[in-house]
Amino acid sequence: MIFSRKIDPFFIGAALACVLTFAGATLARDASNLSQKSSDEAKSAAKAKVSVNRPKDTTAPARNPPKNALQKAGKSAREKSDPEQAERERREFLKKTGILLWPELSDEQQQAFVKKQKEHLEEVRKKVPAGALQLYETDFFLFFSDIAPMYAKLYVPYLDAMYRDLCKAFGLDPKKNIFQGKCLVIAFAQEASFQQYETIFFKEAKPGAQGLCHCNSNGEVIMACFAGLDTLYFASVMVHETSHGFMFRYKSNKQIPNWLNEGAAEWIAKHVVTRDRAIPRKIQKSLAQMRQTGSMGGNFFSAEHIEKWQYGLAAHLTEFLLQYNAQGYKRMIDDIKLGKSWRDALQDAYRLTPEELARNYGIWIGLPMLAP
Ligand SMILES: [Zn+2]
Repeated sequence: MIFSRKIDPFFIGAALACVLTFAGATLARDASNLSQKSSDEAKSAAKAKVSVNRPKDTTAPARNPPKNALQKAGKSAREKSDPEQAERERREFLKKTGILLWPELSDEQQQAFVKKQKEHLEEVRKKVPAGALQLYETDFFLFFSDIAPMYAKLYVPYLDAMYRDLCKAFGLDPKKNIFQGKCLVIAFAQEASFQQYETIFFKEAKPGAQGLCHCNSNGEVIMACFAGLDTLYFASVMVHETSHGFMFRYKSNKQIPNWLNEGAAEWIAKHVVTRDRAIPRKIQKSLAQMRQTGSMGGNFFSAEHIEKWQYGLAAHLTEFLLQYNAQGYKRMIDDIKLGKSWRDALQDAYRLTPEELARNYGIWIGLPMLAP
């Protein structure tokens, strides 16, 4: 596989990105700031739509791949004993379904990717005006940052905890590397450096964004962000965004629907950064909205990108799905990643239609007539 560091239109076009806005500043801690908060949030919601490349519409009926192709794909993942056979099956699966299963990489290949990634970090050091950038390396992450070392050392363990907990949720060996090379996490102290990085390496600034996960079609993941003033909120943004990279690298390049993707990201951020109160607040806010309207918004399951108020709902619904049937959750994501439509995957794993899921979740939160 070719590792391309060259930034060209294809690179940009092929990158998928999730943006989390600088909500740390808008989540005012006192009620006196409420009106400012809502106007800022409206602005942030508009800005949240800024993205390098929008995910495909999930409402379009997906064609399920043939059953034997799914079975083979599941088998090939286990077929480490014959890499050539596994590679043939991978290609065959791509031809049949258009889905790229991520290949098993040898230690030598992984080391070569990491070497290239470190070269990119040196390029960042040369080109982006920032403080003293330092590299903190763990088994699966290259955390590159000019944040004061005493704080940087507080953030890195959140990434490792996220990795461990997501592996647990998906039944993966937490010692096995899901990434190509490692996951790059470039965390600037200042917003200006982050905007410079995005401009230099991804062609445009991302005003209003605090963090952003670039999931490149060549398989690599780069999460870029800046710290801001609220350290716990920043940790939560970092985990949220990086978890998109994990999901991207899980099994295949097939995208999961936005409500599931954002739900998983918010769920894991809440789970790992337990002291941050932003996500519990988002959940309360979405519950209040659903109590008023009796609805999840009408567009929740089909939206290309869910609305800002629905992030709390997505997090809470993920919690519900996991509590209801954790194995079903894994099975549903597995099936989607292997090409099943999410509606069919939901039906097979939970025996529920989206409308029935809304009703069941509604019962869980005391709104038995909740509409999707
Ligand atoms: Zn996200």
